[in-house]
Amino acid sequence: MAAQHKGDLSSAERKILQVIAAGDVQEAAQLLAGEEVRVNCLDEYGMTPLMHAAYKGKADMCRLLLQHGANVNCNQHEYGYTALMFAGLSGRTDITSMMLDAGAETNQVNSVGRTAAQMAAFVGQHDCVTVINNFFSLAKLEFYTRPHGLETEPRLPPTLAGPLHRIIMTTNLNPVKIVLLVKENPVLVNVAALEKCHQVMDLLCEQCVKQQDMNEVLAMKMHYISCVLQKCLAFLKKRDDKLDALVKSLLKGRDSDGFPQYQEKFIRDCIRKFPYCEATLLQELVRSIAPVEIGNDPTAFSVLNQAITGQMAFVDANYCATCGEKGADKRCSLCKAVTYCSLSCQKLHWFAHKKMCRCLQEQDADLEKDSPKLKELKDDESDLVMETANFLQELCLRAEEQVAAAGGCPAELRDFPPPLLRDLPSPKTEATAQQGP
Ligand SMILES: [Zn+2]
Ligand SMILES: [Zn+2]
Repeated sequence: MAAQHKGDLSSAERKILQVIAAGDVQEAAQLLAGEEVRVNCLDEYGMTPLMHAAYKGKADMCRLLLQHGANVNCNQHEYGYTALMFAGLSGRTDITSMMLDAGAETNQVNSVGRTAAQMAAFVGQHDCVTVINNFFSLAKLEFYTRPHGLETEPRLPPTLAGPLHRIIMTTNLNPVKIVLLVKENPVLVNVAALEKCHQVMDLLCEQCVKQQDMNEVLAMKMHYISCVLQKCLAFLKKRDDKLDALVKSLLKGRDSDGFPQYQEKFIRDCIRKFPYCEATLLQELVRSIAPVEIGNDPTAFSVLNQAITGQMAFVDANYCATCGEKGADKRCSLCKAVTYCSLSCQKLHWFAHKKMCRCLQEQDADLEKDSPKLKELKDDESDLVMETANFLQELCLRAEEQVAAAGGCPAELRDFPPPLLRDLPSPKTEATAQQGP
């Protein structure tokens, strides 16, 4: 882009900076339609309108400016900041993703040598760091949707690129979540499709290791996703159940304490099978996990997750007990000890959780003896009440499954206890339901 004097702005350009700050997208669109506004004009600090919009957290405004040809990699800023850096500083993951999709370079550095991810980390915007570090452009994946060299057909059918890209971009590495992402896309729940996808993931892994600026972290992620896809493939070859049995295996807890040992062993296996044994990251992971007995902390998942996303699991947010999604805010209405992101996740987990739910309820009661609502449970009737509640909750879940299976309205996300449980007329049920939040 041609060099231009900083601060050399027309009155319309000064106006648009104010409009951006105020967030008036319509007025900004009108100004951009006129001839007096250069979309990449620089104010006296070398900031473009896009940088302003990103820093102020105005997503619609960023989208508009990009549509009008804003240069996402402009770095005339006095300290070398880019729009991606401003997005990361603002803490807005949606804007950070938008900059990356628009082609923002992740390795540009500012005047003190920091990348956008490093700057976001410096101010504690860890979600933005995760987004930047997990970015992989759709264009790079689409390379495989065209035949190259002697190939007569592409390695990846074009229809699979979008769904596979969504999986590659996930920042939630919980294997259940990845299987659910596969299940969401009927084109992926297919032996031939999964075969192609995992082969492309293996190629991407190899590319990450062999490229000039080797990226072990992304290589490990590609490999891990390939392993999950191969596991889906193996289950799909054995039975035609849309991967339900795989989800169950991953969630099933062992009898003694409900610890999901199949999942733990699966993730350990994935790490062990990483094909580049000289990788430092692999050695670190193995060193962290090998001495840990199965069922103790840290779990293989938490170690892998931290290595790839840079985030500590289970620290400051509620995670869904089924799929690991962050910010889960629905609690099991009986034990209140586990959280879910959705009713469907609670349903998936119930077969495993019901064995532990009672036990967790008792722990909870011991811990909070003073809590008035738990005092109720000390009544002679408490056993019967809880028995009934358990039974009813299971009935509710089954009933909803049947509704869903019959093609009825999909269960909406609601707070627990589920409405069916709440709506039942018996007085005992009402007493149970009142334990809800
Ligand atoms: Zn969930
Ligand atoms: Zn429970």
